[in-house]
Amino acid sequence: MTSSAQQLSSHDSSSHDSSSVPSSCDVVVIGAGLAGLATARHLAISGLDVHVIEASDDIGGRVRTDSVDGLLLDRGFQLYNPSYEEGARILDLNLLNVRSFTAGVEVRINGRSHRLADPRHEPTWAVDSLLAPVGSWTSKLKFSRYAAKLALRNPPPDSVDQRTGAFLERTFGKELTSTVLRPFLAGVFLDENLDTSKRFFDVVLRSFVKGRPGLPEGGMQQIPRQLAAQLPAGSIHTNTRVVSLKSGQVVTDNGIVTCRAIVVATDAQVAHTLIPAVVAPESRAVTTWYHLADCDGSELTQGKSTIVVDGQRFSHGSIDSSRPLINTAVLTHAAPEYASDNRVLVSSSAVGIHDSVYSETLVRKHLEALYGVSTAGWTHVTTYPIADALPAMSAPHAITTPAHLGDGVYVAGDYRAVSSINGAFTSARRAAEALLSDLR
Ligand SMILES: Cc1cc2nc3c(=O)[nH]c(=O)nc-3n(C[C@H](O)[C@H](O)[C@H](O)COP(=O)(O)OP(=O)(O)OC[C@H]3O[C@@H](n4cnc5c(N)ncnc54)[C@H](O)[C@@H]3O)c2cc1C
Repeated sequence: MTSSAQQLSSHDSSSHDSSSVPSSCDVVVIGAGLAGLATARHLAISGLDVHVIEASDDIGGRVRTDSVDGLLLDRGFQLYNPSYEEGARILDLNLLNVRSFTAGVEVRINGRSHRLADPRHEPTWAVDSLLAPVGSWTSKLKFSRYAAKLALRNPPPDSVDQRTGAFLERTFGKELTSTVLRPFLAGVFLDENLDTSKRFFDVVLRSFVKGRPGLPEGGMQQIPRQLAAQLPAGSIHTNTRVVSLKSGQVVTDNGIVTCRAIVVATDAQVAHTLIPAVVAPESRAVTTWYHLADCDGSELTQGKSTIVVDGQRFSHGSIDSSRPLINTAVLTHAAPEYASDNRVLVSSSAVGIHDSVYSETLVRKHLEALYGVSTAGWTHVTTYPIADALPAMSAPHAITTPAHLGDGVYVAGDYRAVSSINGAFTSARRAAEALLSDLR
């Protein structure tokens, strides 16, 4: 995080405390990210005395929201999809009040915007979708049919995995892939080469067809807050780092806890340090910039909450580095409460770490091309460079990995399933189920 971002204040933290850890309990969960909180929730509901130990100053892990000057700034652009099946089991979606984005994408090519969408959700975009210069009608129809079939059938993962990029080019053609699919998916996987598992692509595509992602009314951190609110008071201990563990014992920098079972729900790198047998995948990095636009919001994406991608960035085979952004969106079109006083908040992201002043200048120039307006008067609010944003899911990727490592030690985290919020929740359920069945 840049120094400006570090100075931002995080949301209310009354749901947990920094008090010393108990000397004993049934289960210690290490990490208060989504996987740790969801695991703790499953176990607490089953009657176990669970304590969650978190190294940082607040809950949420990679899902944190800073509140500054009437703005809600998520640490990195991310969206919640209400179609996430695991999320629907453990979250109150009404309370979350997800402000949906449009079920489509705006592709910018040669200074013109083309809107492509699922016609069931955005019927008025149907003609635009068919006419957009992003591949033949046959390719577009083939892609629509593939997506619809996935949503209806929920097939088991492919027995043999492959690279998403290779699959897309072979199946839907080079043009549709380079102008729409690659720019869009690079922002989802944080992988510009699309080496990511096609098994994961199927999971992602299905979730996009089944639901419309959006932003919770109070920011993304409302998701971990809701989970924390379902745990007994005093069971989450922030500002406490686990330094080592062995069967039945967790050593923290704030005391030792003895317990019947341990769930390691940290990110993959820390899990590997605590338990060398855990294999940590490579991390994907991202940088997100926030700007306040000085124009009327309706001038940007026609007032619609749509993700904008650059249809020309990949069109010459290599990546054009003078156009760093993989996506941008006007957050306040979907969630006006992200900025007070009717201000227009724009979030823009690039794969990798870009924290120089020069990068922001390039971003501003790229935004000008993507939105077709001058950005000279836009205010740069802050930048979040995030080194370990997502675990790489390069093909071949096993979507299911064991949760029990033996000796009463269990493991959860998105890298144990797929790198998404739903993946973190899925890993949590698996860890809790394995633990509960062993303790019975
Ligand atoms: C910028 C960005 C964009 C994303 N976009 C999306 C999206 O649009 N949709 C989607 O579904 N997913 C998205 N994701 C992915 C999603 O946020 C993650 O998959 C999910 O939050 C991972 O949760 P986790 O609990 O597995 O790990 P983490 O959130 O990493 O939680 C691990 C926790 O362990 C703690 N910890 C680490 N070491 C220790 C220690 N020694 N002792 C105690 N605690 C420790 C950490 O502080 C952290 O709180 C995005 C992620 C990022 C960063």
